[in-house]
Amino acid sequence: MEKKKKDIRALSKKQLQEFFVEQGDKSFRGSQVYEWLWHKGAHSFEGMTNISKTTRTMLTDNFVINHIRVDRMQRSNDGTIKNAVKLHDNLTVESVLIPTPTRTTACVSSQVGCSLDCQFCATARLKRMRNLNPDEIYDQVMAIDNESRLYFDRPLSNIVFMGMGEPLMNYNNVMKAVEKITSEDGLGMSPKRITISTSGVPKMIKKLADDETKIKLAVSLHAATDAVRTKIMPFNETFPLQDLREALEYWYSKTKSRITYEYIVWKGINDTREDALALVKFCNYVPCKVNLIEYNPIDDGEFQQAASKATDMYQKTLERNGITVTVRRSRGKDIDAACGQLANKSAS
Ligand code: SAH
Repeated sequence: MEKKKKDIRALSKKQLQEFFVEQGDKSFRGSQVYEWLWHKGAHSFEGMTNISKTTRTMLTDNFVINHIRVDRMQRSNDGTIKNAVKLHDNLTVESVLIPTPTRTTACVSSQVGCSLDCQFCATARLKRMRNLNPDEIYDQVMAIDNESRLYFDRPLSNIVFMGMGEPLMNYNNVMKAVEKITSEDGLGMSPKRITISTSGVPKMIKKLADDETKIKLAVSLHAATDAVRTKIMPFNETFPLQDLREALEYWYSKTKSRITYEYIVWKGINDTREDALALVKFCNYVPCKVNLIEYNPIDDGEFQQAASKATDMYQKTLERNGITVTVRRSRGKDIDAACGQLANKSAS
C-alpha cells in the first residue's frame, strides 16, 4: 500500500530546514522550498526551478501540496468578486474581493460553516463542519491577491475575517495564517491592515490582546441589551454583554486600538430610541466607532432592514454623543457575496 504523504505546508520553516538536514542536504534548501510554498505560492514541486530534479522527486515521494482550488469565480456588476473555494476534502468555503477606488479588501473564511447561531446569518444555518487550516486561509488571501493584480492592477491592501465562520473559535489556525500573511516569507502585509471580526468571544478577545498581534478588532454587536442580543444571537446567553464589555476594556487597555462595532438596524427588533441609547451607553465603555451595516435578507423575511428613518435616528443619536459612525452599503449583493449571504447557494 502506498504510504500516506504528509502535507508539506503543515511544516514550519524550521521543521522544513531540519528535514533537509536529516536528508544530508543544507538547511538553506529548506528555506528555498519554503519560499516556493508560501511566497511564490507553488502548486507543485516540478515548478520549483532552482531545486535539483533529484530533490524535487524526493519531495514528490514524501509530500503533497494541499492547495485550495477556486472552483467558481463570480463577478458582481459593482466589481466585487466571489470565489467558491474547494478544499482538499471537497468541502467548499467562500471568499470575496471587495474593490474601492483606492483599496482591495479580501474577506476570508475561517471555518467551514459556523458553530454560532446568529439568527440572521446564512452561514449559521450550516453546521460547523471543520476549522480551516492555516494554509487554507492563506491560500484564500493569495487567490484574492492574484485576482487583484489581474483585474485591478494592484496588490491586495486589506484583509477582513468576515467570511464564513467565527475566527476566534479557530484561533490558532487563524493566527498561524496571519503570521504567514504578515511575514516577509509570505505577503509581508502590515498587521494593521488585517481585521478580525468576532461575534464576541470574551476569553479569546483577551487572548488576542495578550498576543500583541497589532491586528484590528471588529465586534458584531447588533444589540446593546442582553434581552435583544440573546434573541438574535442566542450564544449571548453564554457570553453576556457584561463579559464582552470586560473583555473589550481589557483589549483596549492592552492594545490602545479602537474597536469597530458592526450593527444592523432591523425593523421591530432594535429600531427604537431606547435601543440606540443603549448602544450609546455601550460605546462609552471603550473608544470605538460604529459601522451601521445594511441587512442582506437571507430568506424567510423574519429579519427586515429597518426603514431609513430608523437608521438616520441611530446615526444622529450616536453623532450627537460624539461617536463616529459610518453607514456601510453592501457590495456584491447580485452574486450573494454580501455579509451574511455566504454559503447561501453554493453549500448544497
Ligand atoms: N463570525 C464573525 C465573522 C463573520 S460575519 C462575526 O460574527 O463577526 C461578518 C459580519 O456579517 C458580521 O458583522 C455579521 O454580523 C454580519 N452579518 C451576518 N449576517 C448578515 C446579513 N444577513 N446581512 C448583513 N450582515 C450580516
